[in-house]
Amino acid sequence: MKYKRILLKLSGEALMGNQQYGIDPVRINQYAEEIKKVHESGVEVAIVIGGGNIYRGVQAEASGIDRVQGDYMGMLATVINAMAIQSTLENHGLYTRLMSGIKMEAVCEPFIRRRAVRHLEKGRIVIFGAGIGNPYFTTDSTASLRAIEIEADVVLKGTRVDGVYTADPEKDSSATKIPNLSFEQAIREGYNIMDMTAFTLCQENNVPIIVFDMNASGNLLGIMEGKENIGTLIS
Ligand code: UDP
Repeated sequence: MKYKRILLKLSGEALMGNQQYGIDPVRINQYAEEIKKVHESGVEVAIVIGGGNIYRGVQAEASGIDRVQGDYMGMLATVINAMAIQSTLENHGLYTRLMSGIKMEAVCEPFIRRRAVRHLEKGRIVIFGAGIGNPYFTTDSTASLRAIEIEADVVLKGTRVDGVYTADPEKDSSATKIPNLSFEQAIREGYNIMDMTAFTLCQENNVPIIVFDMNASGNLLGIMEGKENIGTLIS
């Protein structure tokens, strides 16, 4: 396999599937299948899940809620998603641990870097919930930070688009996919891959990012097998 330890970032919105809100059972089971295939091939898998299908901190102020309070609400939303993923992965026969950036003993372990690495070495899938535990950050930044901390070989950003395009492929039919990008190029050309905090963390610590279509069956395993033409590699 091309990578030994991966950090898979899934957005909360991806879990909605075709719904307007919440978690689509078909989609979450499909993701579990994809993750299982990769795990069975011997790859160590850590997952960061977003919360945008339930709540985002930026929504807060519009409804008269304090921004920081809203961010904590967003972090709690990610824990709901993380618990759903944990349960679904277990239904598929996988061993998992959920680690949270905010302590909540009845539900999951606190994030402790050495323990996270040990879980991965023992073949458990580690899910990181509650972001990094601080407001004004995103789960993309969490993905970069945790990837660095656990020494993951790559951040895999699972989206519904097969990589970075010259323009929005959903709006512009002449848009073409870019197979490889440097971090500098991505910044210069203004490609919006992750927020800047997330992006520069990976750049400064030499962790490559692959943006790929998580909804296409076999893509995740294909990347592990080193297949060409899946997603965009930023390095
Ligand atoms: N959040 C935060 N700190 C973190 C991670 C997340 O405050 O370290 C909050 C923030 O309000 C964010 C929300 O949790 O909007 C949900 O995460 P995100 O928007 O990254 O989810 P995604 O877009 O991936 O679904």
